[in-house]
Amino acid sequence: MRPVGVWRSVGVGAASLICAMEGSPPHADASVGDHIVWGGHATVRIVLGAAAVLTDPVLRRRVMHLQRVVPLVAGLGADLRAVLISHLHHDHLDLASLRMLPGAAQIVVPVGARPALGRRTLQQVIELAPGESVDIGGVQVRATIARHDGSRLGRRGVAAPALGYVIERAATTVYFAGDTDIFAGMADIAPRIDCALLPVWGWGSTLGPGHLDPERAADALTLLRPRIAVPIHWGTYRPVVGRGAPPPQAGAPETRFAAAAALRAPGVAVRILAPGEPLAVGGAACA
Ligand SMILES: [Zn+2]
Repeated sequence: MRPVGVWRSVGVGAASLICAMEGSPPHADASVGDHIVWGGHATVRIVLGAAAVLTDPVLRRRVMHLQRVVPLVAGLGADLRAVLISHLHHDHLDLASLRMLPGAAQIVVPVGARPALGRRTLQQVIELAPGESVDIGGVQVRATIARHDGSRLGRRGVAAPALGYVIERAATTVYFAGDTDIFAGMADIAPRIDCALLPVWGWGSTLGPGHLDPERAADALTLLRPRIAVPIHWGTYRPVVGRGAPPPQAGAPETRFAAAAALRAPGVAVRILAPGEPLAVGGAACA
């Protein structure tokens, strides 16, 4: 039986790790081989083989009414093959962040979302409907459904579903859930998932419908059955209003998720990352 536990970062960088529960240590060379790097919120660099893709890039200190409360991460766009956009909300599709990325990177968006990218985006755009897939440099990217209203404020004419993505190459499969609530079809997302990137909170003190809170995200693990789960969509942005006030008193979502997962899905290894920290996700990372 493989070791199970929770690793928590206490700083930025792979060296600043302590073990919060008994378990296996992170891969010694986490940025070598198949790996991910959490960029904060829903931004994750996923490197499988020689291809790197980036989910929902939000690379600025200020987005709409939100202020970043953790450091920005450098290097997320290096040699990028594609950007995957899950839905059109401003904390997932940030046009200014897209313009900061290499022009050669393709942009994968939900079907119908192309008009929301505007005219200044130079990258090649690929629209996917749930169930459709595209090959990105030898990596298969498949769109999955998500249970979330993904419409964009101020863009009433643009209708596009919210998506998740399954990203796979050879023996490694990563599931990026985007924003979603739990849904029964999660059990059929993929027969084997090495790493599930699951939203466990948001940017405010409460969550609206169509989101996973920490406990529901732990329930989702019983359907997804991943080898590793990484909580995302927490602790990165908060509203500017009330600047100087303490962060929203919502508990510590990542810790609640780890605790709930230990009870409800004890076979899943939860990894709590600091922004910028790499995590190996290939077959040998947690065997
Ligand atoms: Zn959303």
